[in-house]
Amino acid sequence: LVARMQGFGTTVFAEMTALAIRTGAINLGQGFPDTDGPAKLLETAVEAIMGGANQYPPGPGLPELREAVAAQRADRYALTYDPADEVLVTVGATEAISAVLLALVETGEEVVVFEPYYDSYAAIIALAGGVRRPVTLRPDGGRFTFDPAELRAAVTPRTRVLLLNSPHNPTGTVFTREELEVVADVCREHDLIAVTDEVYEYLTYDDPAAHVPLATLPGMRERTVAISSAGKTFSVTGWKIGWITAPPRFVRAVQTVKQFLTFTASAPYQRAVAYALREEQEWVEDLRASLRAKRDRLSDGLAAAGLTTFRPQGTYFAQVDVRPLGFGDGREFVTALHERAGIVAIPTQVFYDSDAGDPYVRFAFCKRDEVIDEAVERLHDL
Ligand code: PMP
Ligand code: GLN
Repeated sequence: LVARMQGFGTTVFAEMTALAIRTGAINLGQGFPDTDGPAKLLETAVEAIMGGANQYPPGPGLPELREAVAAQRADRYALTYDPADEVLVTVGATEAISAVLLALVETGEEVVVFEPYYDSYAAIIALAGGVRRPVTLRPDGGRFTFDPAELRAAVTPRTRVLLLNSPHNPTGTVFTREELEVVADVCREHDLIAVTDEVYEYLTYDDPAAHVPLATLPGMRERTVAISSAGKTFSVTGWKIGWITAPPRFVRAVQTVKQFLTFTASAPYQRAVAYALREEQEWVEDLRASLRAKRDRLSDGLAAAGLTTFRPQGTYFAQVDVRPLGFGDGREFVTALHERAGIVAIPTQVFYDSDAGDPYVRFAFCKRDEVIDEAVERLHDL
């Protein structure tokens, strides 16, 4: 294994899901729903396969999907992108993140990112030969946010990209317009490229319109590469269809890299996702309402068990502080949780460079109610 990948090992999600399968534990670790997306979406993929959509689609993605993505950004956020040269389909958001950072970060350049960060960010920054500059999100009024002074201090003359994930995994924070204005200010002032990971764009619980794409702020569209995917929005995390929307110069750069990573993404699933973006918005609204109830169901249970619980504003995840139950850190807690209660969760310290994440553990609530109820019941065994 090359030096720049030393230390990355197996992802914590793969490790924890394997543990849950091996021991029959309840898996509240890896974030994937245990129910399917809309039936017509699934049928569309089957029909696409049976109808012969089985050869390489165009490298940048099926035109119908690029058009559907552009229409979605326009209808929901009043952001206009030309499907011909401002939309690129990728193999999930994961490939989008990889291709974008490999295309835009030179060796030795810095990427500012909020910690805790999604695990692939660190690995790809390293693969690109870049350097990550974490800015820590800390609890403030029941949610996690950043100190603007710390954000400003993280930027140096070598900073090239600011990588922002909102709604944020694993804290569940949905950044407010005021917070985003600070981020936008920093990007404009230092001429940074903003890369936004918006895979949970629909999954906001206290206000359906709470997700504000950074590109909608003044002067930001021209310097933002936005990433999203179908996995969370339509409960098809195994399909791996994602996309970026960005000005042509960025799309060209990312496409140059992407063509040698995977060339293109799976044809039948692209066709099905194009259908869903156009026709299944109501289903997504119902999903949002259902996840909101699950958010409360699990958060209430975690709080009742004595954990300091940060009720998330968005995403699939709730974070807790394990110290009130007498545990030293998250790893110690997840080991006990697995051994005594048969539940798997994620110690979020793996998403930090600093030790600020030591007391936190992430639970996924994108599960059937009976699974959540059983987990909550078992928390009493801790
Ligand atoms: N970004 C974030 C913040 C995520 O939580 C995930 C995983 N769900 C991804 C990217 C990867 O998305 P995809 O499955 O579309 O590759
Ligand atoms: N995004 C999912 C999570 O945060 C995991 C995806 C993966 O396993 N790489 O749980």
